[in-house]
Amino acid sequence: MEVDENTRLLYLESMGIQAWQLRLQPPGMGAVDDGEAALSAVDGVPAIFALAVSAEKSDMPDATSAEGNIVDAHSPTDGGKNAAKVMMGWDELQALVASCTACPLHQTRTQTVFGVGNRSADWMVIGEAPGEQEDLQGEPFVGRAGLLLNEMLRSIGLAREQAFIANILKCRPPKNRDPQVDEASACEGHLKQQLALVKPKIILAVGRIAAQNLLKTTTPIGKLRGLVHDYQGVPLVVTYHPAYLLRSPLEKRRAFDDLRLALHTYRKTI
Ligand code: URA
Repeated sequence: MEVDENTRLLYLESMGIQAWQLRLQPPGMGAVDDGEAALSAVDGVPAIFALAVSAEKSDMPDATSAEGNIVDAHSPTDGGKNAAKVMMGWDELQALVASCTACPLHQTRTQTVFGVGNRSADWMVIGEAPGEQEDLQGEPFVGRAGLLLNEMLRSIGLAREQAFIANILKCRPPKNRDPQVDEASACEGHLKQQLALVKPKIILAVGRIAAQNLLKTTTPIGKLRGLVHDYQGVPLVVTYHPAYLLRSPLEKRRAFDDLRLALHTYRKTI
């Protein structure tokens, strides 16, 4: 349900989440672009959320069909390890994920959390794993961290619905512990197939776990952010996890720099 701006801000405030906005430069200070935009609290500052972010892709195959998508397929129990090249569409992939028993997390999940958003998005946002709320609701990033993620995307003119949002793991690790190596590798095939279907123009990896798993590295996040990486030909930008930013609000400035880097990189690709 779409709420008006005041209600949205009040709701965020009640959750202890500060809205992020690009701020118009004062008159005479020159044009606003992503290099000049400033992170601001909401007080009386006009928002510009009109940055060009295309939600549609003209060269996209029909995402609901399997046509043109030759990807690794796997059975519910092999998690992609014994992958075979087959054509797979969204419905088939969604059913496969829902019935996955490739790692022990299927025993403790309420349900799988497949991913949400525009299936032909230019932007793919990849987080770590479902938390408690996500496990209950079956949708990624719906808790407090999710609200902040929405704000982060909004700060560069991107509505949550315009991106496709998924996680490294499709099942919640007990007590929100870090994903284990074998769990991440069991789930990797699912994410790869989502990437093959969405064909994003840019990937935003949120948090250390997402970044390190996607980039196959143990480099600390502080050294991964601030750079444009390559994920199988797709530019990938790393930023801090919104749950971390809720605990360490002073790092929001750096996260905003990352988002601007991602926006700048995206604009160069289109
Ligand atoms: N944190 C994540 O990384 N993903 C979610 O879906 C929720 C919280």
